[in-house]
Amino acid sequence: MEDSLFQMALKQLDDAAKHIKLDPHIHAILRQPERELTVAVPVVMDDGHVEVFTGHRVQYSSVRGPCKGGIRYHPDVTLDEVKALAAWMTWKCAVVNIPYGGAKGGVRCDPMKMSEEELQRLTRRYTVMIMPIIGSRKDIPAPDVNTSAKTMGWIMDTVSMFEGRTVLDIVTGKPIELGGSLGRREATGRGVMIVTLEVLKKMGQALRETRVAVQGYGNVGSVAATLLNEAGCKVIGVSDVTGGYFNPMGLDIKRINEYVSCSKNHLLEGYSEEGAEAISNEELLELDVDVLIPAALENQITEENADRIKAKVIIEGANGPTTPQAERILTEKGIIVVPDILANSGGVVVSYFEWVQDIQVFFWDLDQINQNLKRILVNSFEEVWSLAKKEKVTMRTASYMLAVNRVAIAVRERGIFP
Ligand code: NAD
Repeated sequence: MEDSLFQMALKQLDDAAKHIKLDPHIHAILRQPERELTVAVPVVMDDGHVEVFTGHRVQYSSVRGPCKGGIRYHPDVTLDEVKALAAWMTWKCAVVNIPYGGAKGGVRCDPMKMSEEELQRLTRRYTVMIMPIIGSRKDIPAPDVNTSAKTMGWIMDTVSMFEGRTVLDIVTGKPIELGGSLGRREATGRGVMIVTLEVLKKMGQALRETRVAVQGYGNVGSVAATLLNEAGCKVIGVSDVTGGYFNPMGLDIKRINEYVSCSKNHLLEGYSEEGAEAISNEELLELDVDVLIPAALENQITEENADRIKAKVIIEGANGPTTPQAERILTEKGIIVVPDILANSGGVVVSYFEWVQDIQVFFWDLDQINQNLKRILVNSFEEVWSLAKKEKVTMRTASYMLAVNRVAIAVRERGIFP
């Protein structure tokens, strides 16, 4: 039987623990979330009937600072998945060394089948149900799959109504007008672009000769493709849930962006351009490219297709797109994998900037945000790259070694209460 997502997260922790010879007592502490909350969320639906949804908020660790992590609305949300995502947030914040712990939230629902009014009622009731444990210095939610700036605005308003004042620093990823940060929407894709350029530099690969394929053309994938294209790379394949397009001469990314800005649900379906052909998602992953960026879902590169991957480097825009079995095959083939906790950390880094700006009630310009993001990501990339070389391990193992060690030091220095 395949591992559950949380079992996979524990195996990654155990692997890092072995490499850094982690104290077994601290290891035992880090194998469990600090707190798990499951809530029932009744919602009056538009037709008058009441539906009761199940929601979770898991706080994996708060030893390095307030817990931080998104809220996901999806029919497949389970406590196991939320626990895994909360653990990954802990390591992600630690690897880029921002002063946060890790958390995640989720509600099991199908937002595609709900009206905006129903989603608003769901969000406000879920917020109240988790309010005893969230807080601007305790646990700060953010958007994740199927939640957006609008959802964060509802959360901010709900908490503000209860407190009787405007509380900006309770969530990040908010609309700019409600204390959101410039650059937050593009931050994850920008981060993917920054680490891609760093790895290409290490490989001595010229940008003009670099061919890129991107799976998933949403928030992360579309921004990464656009910025890499602007940097001089040739994006030869892109795809989304409806399928993909391939042009060996390089796709016209500007034209694609214009198309999806008006297409139904912003999907690629129906796109056309001279020299481009339609391909499947499976074909996209196996294209002859230098850089492959999975930016859609988990479990895309598996034992089944890993052997057919031709990319020289994989940059994990999505969370968990490569299974551990697949990564073993890729490593044997000499393919470099830049792991999710480093590659897609741009989003949480700019969320951190948003929180800092909200606390200070003083807002930065876009240059300041992008420069600080680049500085943090380039430094973190360099640390991970050097450790991987020194210890002769993969970039994932090196990222985990750095991250787990930072959390472990915090546990040791704080001591065990009482
Ligand atoms: P999104 O909803 O904006 O985009 C997802 C894209 O994936 C869409 O283009 C969708 O059509 C496509 N897709 C869905 N199912 C697919 C399938 N079966 N095959 C191919 N494509 C498919 O989501 P997003 O915010 O871009 O997030 C994508 C991934 O990045 C997720 O794993 C998410 O957890 C991760 N991530 C996002 C952020 C962020 O700030 N948005 C930060 C860190 C990690």
